[in-house]
Amino acid sequence: AAEEILAHDNAPATTADGHGVDLLANIGTVADADLAAARTDARTVAGSGLFRTEVLFLNAQQAPTVEEQRREYAAALAAFGDRKVVVRTLDAGADKPLAFATLPDEENPALGVRGYRVRRVHPHLLSDQLTALADAAGEGGTQPWVMAPMIATVAEARAFAADARAAGIGTVGIMIEVPAAALRARDLLHEVDFVSIGTNDLAQYTMATDRLRGELADLLDPWQPAVLELVAQTARAGRELGKPVGVCGESAADPLMALVLVGLGVTSLSMSSGAVPAVRFALRQHTLEQCQAMARAALGADDPSRARRGVVELLEPRA
Ligand code: PEP
Ligand code: MG
Repeated sequence: AAEEILAHDNAPATTADGHGVDLLANIGTVADADLAAARTDARTVAGSGLFRTEVLFLNAQQAPTVEEQRREYAAALAAFGDRKVVVRTLDAGADKPLAFATLPDEENPALGVRGYRVRRVHPHLLSDQLTALADAAGEGGTQPWVMAPMIATVAEARAFAADARAAGIGTVGIMIEVPAAALRARDLLHEVDFVSIGTNDLAQYTMATDRLRGELADLLDPWQPAVLELVAQTARAGRELGKPVGVCGESAADPLMALVLVGLGVTSLSMSSGAVPAVRFALRQHTLEQCQAMARAALGADDPSRARRGVVELLEPRA
């Protein structure tokens, strides 16, 4: 099967009936960007769907200057040429502590001042980052899509969109990783150009399960019906409003889940670049209609293993 997947390595990312899906790479550094871009072309990897900018500054003691940030962002954008790059503003806190942004004394950091919420205590971090991103974009080449993590309310989405647009960012989005945001995806989508579902945190917060606790992995499973339901609800809102809905959590890298997500109407899937060929291969074996049937089967199941099994039963038998 590995040979078969490799033989498809230059095939475009579409379903068997030609429905296109953007397959994108998750990156955290300029080196990641170089690697993902160099190994692929625009047909097979359409760009980056999640640039985790906090990774650039994990070891920094002081907030990076606008100029330091601009250099990193410009280099990552340049690596992808004119391919799409979705940049996430700093997601500091909880599992991603940054010395200059994280509050030291939180009892429940996953429920605390993390992601977009850091703006409440360090507003200049976000404004500097947006300035640096707009400056990097001003150098030509691809225009980044910019999204904020950990958005929970319409007011937050509106405030972020206003700040990003005022800084000169053309395409503004938010991540859907808090159940409150998924439940109200329609309202939030009215404020922005796109959303991207972070299934790692969406599962954590939906299932009240710390994403770092391996012994609770069964609860964190993105095939949990409640998590699938929230993903489906978000995808439906995107379809109704005609706006892109991506998935950039680990679940996008599972070929079986990728089929379900496409069936739900998700328009892009972002994953570690090594996972792209297997996902592309699975997509190319199935029509959009088959993906939709798989999505119905998954949503109709009352537990994760039955959801998976329901999808496996609909897989195209391979010659
Ligand atoms: C997610 O939460 O699914 C996500 C993509 O963001 P991160 O893993 O960086 O929190
Ligand atoms: Mg997240």
